[in-house]
Amino acid sequence: MNSEVRVRFAPSPTGPLHIGGVRTALYNYLFARKHNGKFILRIEDTDQARFVEGAEDYVRNSLKWLGLDYDEGPVKGGDFGPYKQSERKDIYKKYVDKLLDEDNAYIAFDTQEELNSKRAEFEAKKSTFKYDAATRMQMKNSLSLRRNEVKEKMEAGEPYVVRIKIPENKEIKVEDVIRGEILINSNEVDDKVLFKSDGLPTYHLANIVDDHLMKISHVIRGEEWLPSTPLHVLLYDFLGWKDSMPKFAHIPLTLKPTGKGKLSKRDGDKGGFPVFPLEWNNPEKNEIFKGYRESGYFPEAVVNILVLLGWNPGTEQEIFSLDELIDAFSLNNINKSGARFDPDKAKWFNHSYLQKKSNEELADLFIPILKEKNITLEKEKVIKIVSLIKERADFVVDLWEQSSYFFVAPEDYDKKVVKKKWKEDTPEIVSDIKDILQSASEFTSTAIENEVKKYIEKNELGFGKVMNPLRLCLVGSNQGAHLFDIMEIIGKEETISRIERGLKTIKK
Ligand code: GLU
Repeated sequence: MNSEVRVRFAPSPTGPLHIGGVRTALYNYLFARKHNGKFILRIEDTDQARFVEGAEDYVRNSLKWLGLDYDEGPVKGGDFGPYKQSERKDIYKKYVDKLLDEDNAYIAFDTQEELNSKRAEFEAKKSTFKYDAATRMQMKNSLSLRRNEVKEKMEAGEPYVVRIKIPENKEIKVEDVIRGEILINSNEVDDKVLFKSDGLPTYHLANIVDDHLMKISHVIRGEEWLPSTPLHVLLYDFLGWKDSMPKFAHIPLTLKPTGKGKLSKRDGDKGGFPVFPLEWNNPEKNEIFKGYRESGYFPEAVVNILVLLGWNPGTEQEIFSLDELIDAFSLNNINKSGARFDPDKAKWFNHSYLQKKSNEELADLFIPILKEKNITLEKEKVIKIVSLIKERADFVVDLWEQSSYFFVAPEDYDKKVVKKKWKEDTPEIVSDIKDILQSASEFTSTAIENEVKKYIEKNELGFGKVMNPLRLCLVGSNQGAHLFDIMEIIGKEETISRIERGLKTIKK
């Protein structure tokens, strides 16, 4: 094994990066940082047909937002560049030639139509066509055709691909850090295309060549790549790189909230939660997907949500900073089974991170929202308001919902509460309170609370009998922060005016 830890995140820019992919990046990042190694970003864009404009920027912006900075990669550069496979075209040819020369690969001329009709032929026999040792001699390739036929076709410029020649009935051993040793018979693997007629390598070849040339020590990637790994192991073998082959660690799938099936981009729309880190907007395809960022999640909460999808610290701790994660992370604590995504838990994480922020930080985030509503207020007051209501907020935008009554007087009054709490004798009581407040010399929460309590005791009234209608006048419902705190913050004048309006408008 290479002594330095070098890991890579290698997305294909075929669309926005899904949170499952972000989690892969995160695990790679944590592993690299933990071992003082390097975290590399490599863009695997050899499949031109599936290339999507903007997808690479999306990856970079997502990593940046989450604070997962890479050491080598596109734009940033590094000693092993370029880091985009489309810019490495010329590198792969020589390895294809080596495979061909050593009879570990062959040239195939089968057209798409021919392959399709072969597939149909097998389907009719209720079986599945596989291009492999059992079938390759029935196909049009450099193994089945005569040497001069191959030459003629090549000279005539007939399109061809290069396929790996998977040996027959050979045991292939895959060692996976998470799953242990897996033995696969080569008959289960097909003769995958390594090099396409467009002159570009496929994922399989480019991935192995680049991992080798970039001195990658560990391949940490999604479980969906496990079935390709025997092929990769063979390629390392054929290319003579078995001794420096990276270690593999396949991380479990991220599952739908029901636990049934892989979490997909459509689940977010259905379940009302984001499946992507940032909003993705592709007007051409009429695609708009919500992002964690735009939905009000803090990046550190998203990191925390994702890390626990499939990894456990072995303790009860749930909230981790990035530094704590770097310290605690280990591939040994990655689960083998799929990780169910829980949208409520995701909100809970954001809620927890919001509570951890100082009132001042939250005020700074809240003030722009207030500005949009043409509300300006001294920062000190906003800080105070935030301190009273943040416990009820999961997101910064919830702060408004939870505190709007501090800024605007109620326009209507919750009918159910009116029905239940506004009694025959309520107007008289509320008027008395108004007078008490009017003459209060010190309009602070505790001072006015004392005055009102004295009145309640003197008249032997229930606390609720006074406070519920009063809350209705001030807030419009039975919700909200401690009522005397509200009064202090909105001030005497506004308190009196809301009570007067209530007295005038609320009718049983
Ligand atoms: N380009 C592959 C992907 O999109 C990378 C798989 C790997 O890490 O080997 O997932």
